[in-house]
Amino acid sequence: MGQTTTNVSSSSSSTRSLGRTAGRPASLTTSLLDRLTALISNPSGQAVKIIAPFSGEAIVELPQCTADDVLSAASEAREAQLDWARMDVRSRAGVFLRLHDLVFANSETLMDLIQAENGKARRDAFLEVADIANTCRYYARKAPGLLDPNSRRGLIPMLTSVTELHHPKGLVTIISPWNYPLSLGAGDTIPALLAGNAVIQKPDNQTALTTLFMLELMTQAGLPAGVWQVVTGRGSAIGDTLLDVADYVMFTGSTESGRHIAAEAGRRLVDCSAELGGKNPVLILDDANLDRAVEGAVRACFSSSGQLCISGERMYVADAIWDRFVPRFVDAVKALRIGGSYDFEHNMGSLTSESQLRTVETHVEDAVSKGAKVLAGGKARPDLGPFFYEPTVLSDVEESMTCFAEETFGPVVSLYRFKTDDEAIAAANDTTYGLNSSVWSSSPTRGRAVAARLKTGTVNVNEAYAAAWGSIDAPMGGMGASGIGRRHGEGGLLKYTESQTVAYQRMMNLAPPLGLGDEAFAKVMSAALKVMKKAGLS
Ligand code: NAD
Repeated sequence: MGQTTTNVSSSSSSTRSLGRTAGRPASLTTSLLDRLTALISNPSGQAVKIIAPFSGEAIVELPQCTADDVLSAASEAREAQLDWARMDVRSRAGVFLRLHDLVFANSETLMDLIQAENGKARRDAFLEVADIANTCRYYARKAPGLLDPNSRRGLIPMLTSVTELHHPKGLVTIISPWNYPLSLGAGDTIPALLAGNAVIQKPDNQTALTTLFMLELMTQAGLPAGVWQVVTGRGSAIGDTLLDVADYVMFTGSTESGRHIAAEAGRRLVDCSAELGGKNPVLILDDANLDRAVEGAVRACFSSSGQLCISGERMYVADAIWDRFVPRFVDAVKALRIGGSYDFEHNMGSLTSESQLRTVETHVEDAVSKGAKVLAGGKARPDLGPFFYEPTVLSDVEESMTCFAEETFGPVVSLYRFKTDDEAIAAANDTTYGLNSSVWSSSPTRGRAVAARLKTGTVNVNEAYAAAWGSIDAPMGGMGASGIGRRHGEGGLLKYTESQTVAYQRMMNLAPPLGLGDEAFAKVMSAALKVMKKAGLS
């Protein structure tokens, strides 16, 4: 089947025939789909139809789980976890090093699945593949050092020896969204499993096949049966049961759902991480390198059609460079090639669902009706597929407009002028969210100084989002309404463990030795503590 492609700078679309169908890629054979749906844990509910955003065609009838199915999956997982946790951590790590290679060996199918379910451009799908390989390598190499028993300084040097142990939590519930099915699905599962846990995961129905394919690859890499259970269903149907069975909850999704899940986890006294929404600012300072800033700003706002939690939706541009930066930025946005194909022809794909499209349309219509100007884009593209929307740049956006403060989660950015760095920082921080920001300046000192004053969990100086996200050794997560807890880095694995302190006391008890009264003991202890401070001990 041929397909439509367009460069949004032209008002009429040109039609070209590309090699691969926009309907369903050839790799998604009936036998693959049957194999994947058979991996869902005990689904006894009514199947739901999942459609491909590029074309609106059905991809699969996805079987659904009931609350009872979740309970059965949880007990299978708990059983399997016992042997998995007993395995040496280096053997567990070996599974993920093999998975790394399998991910690359199967990258074409993975990208096909991600595109078919999510509708993003292939380059964005590839970045998920690269990201998951990065995660496998990092945690497989890092886990032994983090999980081996760790010596801590004891109360009395030589007499008290202390070891910190890390035990798996047990069963981790992971609830993941549809926008980055690989990075935000398997990406969190890998450290949770490496820490010796079993995982019960509920991907969004729209992108469950990608998660199930990862389960197939992990099984090939040597993950024992039952340790990773994938259940399907709506949050409203099985969400509470998933929380009931959890020893830890990792949630990624909207702030609204995150509040509910964190409150429920709190009621059950189960720890949780919640990675939520954002309204991320991009600051173009007056000394920015304009070539780099234009390219980076386009990527910041339109990667994955703006359905990226760390995407830029507000851009603050220094007054001094507004007239040079804005026309170049707008031209670069208009030059984006949007369309749906299972190859690298396009650099922006579709939105994922009708409800995403409605939100984007509503935000833009609301802004325009109240006086915002459209500098690029501004309309849906049903000629390309049911949910396509042009990359859109707005100016003259004001507080009364919905898109001023609310997350759009689509390809829409609002531009604002500023005169001083203080003014830009204050505007950027004037939000309840605090996920990611991006600052462009040719001065490392100035860029870093502005970054430190922004209230977001990650700040990228002279990059859109990939520098902080891809630096997996450092924590990643949101402040304020953007979440609690962090993924990535040491904490991104240790949060899936219970730490236990084992203190071993040699030779004498921590009580007055024989013949020493309580008062004399208090004097000896006070003197010893003062000596420790003088000796510079911590
Ligand atoms: P959502 O909250 O509607 O759904 C996310 C997942 O949670 C889905 O699997 C859904 O079925 C499930 N869910 C919803 N309510 C539930 C409940 N009560 N119990 C159990 N599960 C429940 O979010 P969405 O619209 O699918 O995703 C988009 C949102 O996610 C955006 O706000 C975006 O910013 C955010 N997001 C954040 C990050 C991050 O790392 N901070 C990453 C990606 C997406």
